[in-house]
Amino acid sequence: MKHHENGSGSPELDQRAREELEAAFAVSGSGDVVRDLGRTEESNVTKAEAGQNKVPGASSEPKTKKPSSASALGGFADTPLARELSEITRRRRALESAELPLPGTTRVITVANQKGGVGKTTTTVNLAAALAKNGARVLVIDLDPQGNASTALGVEHRSDTVSVYDVIVSDVEIADVVKKSTEGGELYCLPATIHLAGAEIELVSLVAREQRLRSALDKFLSEAEEPFHYVFIDCPPSLGLLTINAFVAAREVLIPIQCEYYALEGLSQLLNNIKLIERHLNPELVVSTILLTMYDSRTNLSNQVADDVRQHFPAEVLATPIPRSVRISEAPSFGLSVISYDTNSPGSISYLEAAAEIARRGAPESAGPTK
Ligand code: ATP
Ligand code: MG
Repeated sequence: MKHHENGSGSPELDQRAREELEAAFAVSGSGDVVRDLGRTEESNVTKAEAGQNKVPGASSEPKTKKPSSASALGGFADTPLARELSEITRRRRALESAELPLPGTTRVITVANQKGGVGKTTTTVNLAAALAKNGARVLVIDLDPQGNASTALGVEHRSDTVSVYDVIVSDVEIADVVKKSTEGGELYCLPATIHLAGAEIELVSLVAREQRLRSALDKFLSEAEEPFHYVFIDCPPSLGLLTINAFVAAREVLIPIQCEYYALEGLSQLLNNIKLIERHLNPELVVSTILLTMYDSRTNLSNQVADDVRQHFPAEVLATPIPRSVRISEAPSFGLSVISYDTNSPGSISYLEAAAEIARRGAPESAGPTK
């Protein structure tokens, strides 16, 4: 199905395409958003964190069970704890000695999964912080009325704060809203406030309602004094107009998948909806990255989910899974990423490794078919 260019250069949908999208994304004429599938409760984090992300086949898998550097420690070197510590040290050293390439053009990556509580915000914030720590200039767009990414990046988002809502609904420029994160480095955030909850409804009656974020972002990036290397968009747990705006603004989608029961439910719907966007609104869009989150190598369930996902998406899944980690869940309460909060923890090292993979893979050449 074709889309047409209007005067402003943004594609306008024909009636059939609009109906198809509205049915898939549950955008009704009155602006109802019915696909909020709710959040999954975070289970208690009680287990030791070290060594939870040993996925068979993953590059971070230790090659030998007993590192020679530990042999001087006698009996202690044989304990699982010693092996874990030695492995973490090895991974940290590998990260320290590696330099990450910066992309030639801005990579705009939407982090989406309509399932709640799977680690979208945690992933957005920590990947952004990891890349910024490696010298990249990074913008995080908080597109969730909960404003969790803004909190984690230490950016104010009270109800009277000018926010992404004003950008999308009232044509305020991103440059007038963006704030530097307290994380340090070249890390910026476009905050979200609770007003964004109403935007799903207000957008319905606006012109080019699917392209509003794209237009604002394109303008911001083309006028920015210094180029941005990465833009991450943190989506709400729903498939409504805000998420459509995120898909239209991006070139890449990153899907975090929680290594828990029900993880894959809803995934085919998400992939179908992304295909619809690619067909009707954004031919460049591609699912470039899948990240396994809250992984615990000691449970069969985590391993089963990881195996399933790797089998279905061998090219997209990052080799590094993110372990379930108390440090990761504690960090936002200090307005910090886990990378600043506890740099040498397994969670921090895993996000740094995942960021390195994303940087090395580079942007995909062009949108290919998603499964
Ligand atoms: P929502 O759908 O509500 O936007 P989300 O997909 O953005 O949620 P997060 O907010 O990132 O998910 O994470 C949900 C909860 O799980 C948070 O309390 C977070 O601190 C915790 N969490 C995320 N990743 C991990 C992890 N690897 N280990 C432990 N806890 C984690
Ligand atoms: Mg979130």
